[in-house]
Amino acid sequence: MAEIVTTETGLDRALAVLKSGEVVAIPTETVYGLAGDATNGDAVLRIFEAKGRPRFNPLIAHVGSIEMATGIALFDPLSLKLTEKFWPGPLTLVLPARQPSTIHPLVTAGLDTIAIRMPQGFGRKLIDAFGRPLAAPSANSSGRISATSADAVAADLGARIPLIVDGGATQVGVESTIVKVEGGEVHLLRPGGISAAEIEQATGRKVLRRQGGAVQAPGMLASHYAPHAGVRINADEVRPGEALLAFGAERAKGSELAVAVLNLSETGDMREAARNLFEHLQRLDRSGAAAIAVERVPTDGLGEAINDRLTRAAAPRDFPQNRT
Ligand code: AMP
Ligand code: MG
Repeated sequence: MAEIVTTETGLDRALAVLKSGEVVAIPTETVYGLAGDATNGDAVLRIFEAKGRPRFNPLIAHVGSIEMATGIALFDPLSLKLTEKFWPGPLTLVLPARQPSTIHPLVTAGLDTIAIRMPQGFGRKLIDAFGRPLAAPSANSSGRISATSADAVAADLGARIPLIVDGGATQVGVESTIVKVEGGEVHLLRPGGISAAEIEQATGRKVLRRQGGAVQAPGMLASHYAPHAGVRINADEVRPGEALLAFGAERAKGSELAVAVLNLSETGDMREAARNLFEHLQRLDRSGAAAIAVERVPTDGLGEAINDRLTRAAAPRDFPQNRT
């Protein structure tokens, strides 16, 4: 079973684990990450193995400084401006990868681009001390709900990894926003912790969304973030046997009959809703309900990321169901 240490005492232990080519679960401001040395192929393989993640799904390289970032990718002026505005923070940039590079090719799944982010808090401290980029996807089994607490990591991956650093509940609660600058335009590849409106305000340019919905980057699979129970979004009523994931002050019809009810935010606060999203989904899943009905959540601001995750949680799954 994984050893659990705190952020106050865990830095040296985490460094030792990384140096030995092993993986460690760490808190970031978005969700918990499963980190390994991005320059070590064995460490990167261990990340894929612990998660059961398809190898064609590339990982985000986490950096501690701009120098580290410019050492592995080629920055255009607009991407650089985005780093000045939003790093450290929940924004990932997809950029042309420098070649040759110290980054192991498994990280980018053989693409000639690389996704990079500078995290806040413990993650950044750890990278600074380690001196190399860390590959770090979310610390959960592939396709399942992302972990926003050390307990959630332990319950899912505890038997497969040596160490978890406990930094308490994550602040943002959803993964980073992923953008790619092309031809001087900002393309949104995945909505996340920084809203499109914030990026538009910072750049003075419209953020472009490609046609065909949210699935654009390799591995942005339709089914993801899935609990064991089925998920039904934009529900106006609760059906027999369902649990309810509520939002705001007004309840869906039949809510009094729900197996369990949790509210993302009674006051309709989107930041609070993002923070609660994965934990509430997990708790409702444990209620034993056949399905989770989800009330309508607004799509503006952080709501774009929340609705993206809920839509994927509700998508038909490509792995066996424990419950139908
Ligand atoms: P996560 O699954 O939260 O670790 O997020 C990583 C996401 O970043 C995946 O869905 C990848 O598809 C995406 N990604 C990573 N590298 C690239 C890249 N070079 N180009 C496009 N998307 C990428
Ligand atoms: Mg993930």
